[in-house]
Amino acid sequence: MTSSVPLPLCSVCARQSAGEGGKESIRVAAEDASFECSLCFGILHPAFIDDVSKAAEAHLASCPYDATSFILALNLPTSQTLREQIIKKRFPSFDGILADIPFKVRNINAYLSKLQQASGLRPTLMSDLQLTITFENDDFLDSDTEFLRKAFPQDFRSGKKRRQNGDENGSGGEPELTKNRLQNMLGRINEKIASTFPVEKAPSRPCKFSFAFERDPVYIAGRYCKYSRALPQSPWSAEEDAPLIPGHSVSEKVTGPMAKLLGSTETRFVASGREDIDVRMLGEGRPFVVHLINCRNTQTLRPDRRVETLAALRDAINKSSVDVSVSELALLSREVAEQLSVGQEDKKKLYTAYCYSTLPIDTGVLKAATRTEPLEIIQKTPVRVMKRRALLDRPRSIYTLETMPIDEHHFLVRMETQAGTYIKEFVHGDFGRTRPSLADLIGCQKGEVDIVQLDVERVDLVWPPENTGKKDEKKK
Ligand SMILES: [Zn+2]
Repeated sequence: MTSSVPLPLCSVCARQSAGEGGKESIRVAAEDASFECSLCFGILHPAFIDDVSKAAEAHLASCPYDATSFILALNLPTSQTLREQIIKKRFPSFDGILADIPFKVRNINAYLSKLQQASGLRPTLMSDLQLTITFENDDFLDSDTEFLRKAFPQDFRSGKKRRQNGDENGSGGEPELTKNRLQNMLGRINEKIASTFPVEKAPSRPCKFSFAFERDPVYIAGRYCKYSRALPQSPWSAEEDAPLIPGHSVSEKVTGPMAKLLGSTETRFVASGREDIDVRMLGEGRPFVVHLINCRNTQTLRPDRRVETLAALRDAINKSSVDVSVSELALLSREVAEQLSVGQEDKKKLYTAYCYSTLPIDTGVLKAATRTEPLEIIQKTPVRVMKRRALLDRPRSIYTLETMPIDEHHFLVRMETQAGTYIKEFVHGDFGRTRPSLADLIGCQKGEVDIVQLDVERVDLVWPPENTGKKDEKKK
């Protein structure tokens, strides 16, 4: 099947794909118009590859990574992918030296060595740095979609519904020819379908291209203690009485020095639960993991330098604030880091509350409130968080409860509770919304007994920063 209008190809595709066997069916685009190539859109042409490599070099110079290697991913225009398949079916006589090699492979090969020269990075299949180059050409978006819609109407059925609500003519609206949809249809394009495609139409301009360098996230786990009664855990805490001061949160005090050292563009602080702004976190501290996105510098976390770096980070964080300290910093794998938010309900917490009673305390009654067996309580959503939480009855367990009188009006309570228990409400009863409460147990009302100061002494975990150090050692 020969076409009357010749197929436009660049000099590279004419040589590598068409070869002697395709000579009669093609016309070779001028060297300065290689974008007219119906097969590669000019992406394979050396001059274009040079342009892309130079741009990559400039891009990398403006925001360097301390990486030694990279993985290359190319995002090709859907119209180009479609034409590759059409041309294969339409021109079986093509016998160029690389005619049988998929375009994507030829493309990667053509780019790798140039990019290596330009970037100084070694191309590999295993690297934490990925370079994605996206090529774009929108000359044929509408006509390609219409062609495929006619050939495979059933593939566009779900899209039709959307179209009926919008533009009947099909111009405008969102493009419906997605990469996935095209991949599903490619294999079904046979000679007959290919013969009706206007493959001799050349692209009108060179592809646009853009880069994205992206490094795998780094995950650092640890435990934090908080010694302030005026420091929120995160800058977005919905604490009405806490003014938002930049840098004034546990999250920022912990992530700041990490982001600075590793040059991350973004951080995420994930803690195992949280304490209120006026509650201190003592003892061994509360576990957390920090996600550091797109780090520029990770060489200091190489196995031989890791211990030293994590110790230096810990010291930097601890020196930078008297309100927060961290310990047990460890590097986590992505798999472990992603499991960390699971299993919240299984955790126990140990609190010490320093309480005040308006009425003199009967030490006998106070002693009698002590529990060594779990106490089951029901907590309605507390008055103080009603605005932002759903109204629910939450069953919670108080595993142990110890009391200690200090003077006539003050006493200490130590209690081990299920994670998610509202401690302040358990103590004062929240106008009967928590039942039974400590106030009930010692025969007081709200307003008569309340917490003056609260500390978290221990957080028990199911998720494993302490295990991960061992795992790391095994790997070595
Ligand atoms: Zn070409």
